[in-house]
Amino acid sequence: MNLYSTKHQSPDVSLEEAVFRGLPPDNGLYMPDHIPTLPLSFFENIQNLSLTEIALEVSKALIGDDIPEADLKRIIDQSITFDAPVVAVEPDTYVLELFHGPSMAFKDFGGRFMASLMSYFLEKSAKEIHILVATSGDTGGAVAQGFYQTPGIKVTILYPSGKVSDIQEKQLTTLGANVTALEVDGTFDDCQRLVKEAFLDADLRAKFNLASANSINISRLIPQSFYYFNAYARLKHLGKPLVFCVPSGNFGNLSAGIIAYRMGLPVRKFIAATNSNHIVPDYLATGTFEPKPSQETISNAMDVGNPSNFPRLLLLGGGDWESVKNLVTGVWYDDAKTQDTIRRVYENTAYLVCPHTAIAYQGLKDVVAEMNEDVTGVFLSTAHYAKFLPTMEATLGTTLPVPERLAELLDKPKVATPMTTTFADFKAYLLQ
Ligand SMILES: *Cc1c(COP(=O)(O)O)cnc(C)c1O
Repeated sequence: MNLYSTKHQSPDVSLEEAVFRGLPPDNGLYMPDHIPTLPLSFFENIQNLSLTEIALEVSKALIGDDIPEADLKRIIDQSITFDAPVVAVEPDTYVLELFHGPSMAFKDFGGRFMASLMSYFLEKSAKEIHILVATSGDTGGAVAQGFYQTPGIKVTILYPSGKVSDIQEKQLTTLGANVTALEVDGTFDDCQRLVKEAFLDADLRAKFNLASANSINISRLIPQSFYYFNAYARLKHLGKPLVFCVPSGNFGNLSAGIIAYRMGLPVRKFIAATNSNHIVPDYLATGTFEPKPSQETISNAMDVGNPSNFPRLLLLGGGDWESVKNLVTGVWYDDAKTQDTIRRVYENTAYLVCPHTAIAYQGLKDVVAEMNEDVTGVFLSTAHYAKFLPTMEATLGTTLPVPERLAELLDKPKVATPMTTTFADFKAYLLQ
């Protein structure tokens, strides 16, 4: 795989370089210069393949030139250790459950695959790596779990103080060992900016082998394409075109879906669903991309005012507004509507949707109703509801069961270092 920068001011790199650099020096994003189409025979047989078998075929096509098949299989078997089941919720409406990994959010796919891939490259080169990751809640937990106790890797997580749920905070701050949490007195956008500045800082680059674990890292997008193929494999027998609704913040998940589409996955439409941070739905409606300061909502993992994967979304969607809006429809909902949906889905189906998943459900329903076509709708459930327990219980007016794995976490003590939003402070901390 050869990768170029979306700003075209940096040289092309190999997969290994893109994985460790994270961002190109010109501050663009790495993109594969070619996305292969999978053969027809793959799609004819896909219903007989498991998620990991699908993952191997997709990775072979994408990165098989960089990594031998036996090693790829090992990377997949180490990282994709849980399923992505498709569950019927209502007629023609299915949920793709992406929360069966250790941190109970879909980011386990990207975080764990990236960790395995980096470990694989490190075995060959014996480098020491310092991972910096900004999180709006779920990335940190997935990345921390993925890299926990991995030799040769140090992880520093930046999260916005008071803006993640208790369970999310505990997932970031209770592991210890090679994982350190910085509690930033600001927003997710501040955390993301601090990480970006660190990568561009010559002193830090000279002292450390810095690597990024955010969704800007191409190795997180690759595994996120696997489960779109898996949904198709499980639903193919229905014989109807698929519509995917993706609850979105930085738009890595949706970009991965469009990579699957570019590899030949039959998809009728994608829906980009957001909360009140509706920069991309506005772009799809008007053709103008206008980042704004992020607003706090109950779907906090999507509180992103300047979606970092937008350049990729644009390129993958066809490169211009007309093409993108033909493939992707944008919708957004405020907190009141999100809570109303959580209640309605629970009353009608007994299924519990987290706030992010509720937005995806509602987006699917609203867009499909307008399409007037016979389709199979799939909404992505990006987290287990129990990660957002106070919101869920307040919304439904009842107590809800908590999986044991999460309940145990709540009893552990939090260990975090306070941090300001000033880059000089962050830099001094890293250098000390
Ligand atoms: C990260 C996250 C999202 C947003 O995903 P992007 O790839 O950034 O668009 C949605 N829901 C949950 C639960 C998340 O953790």
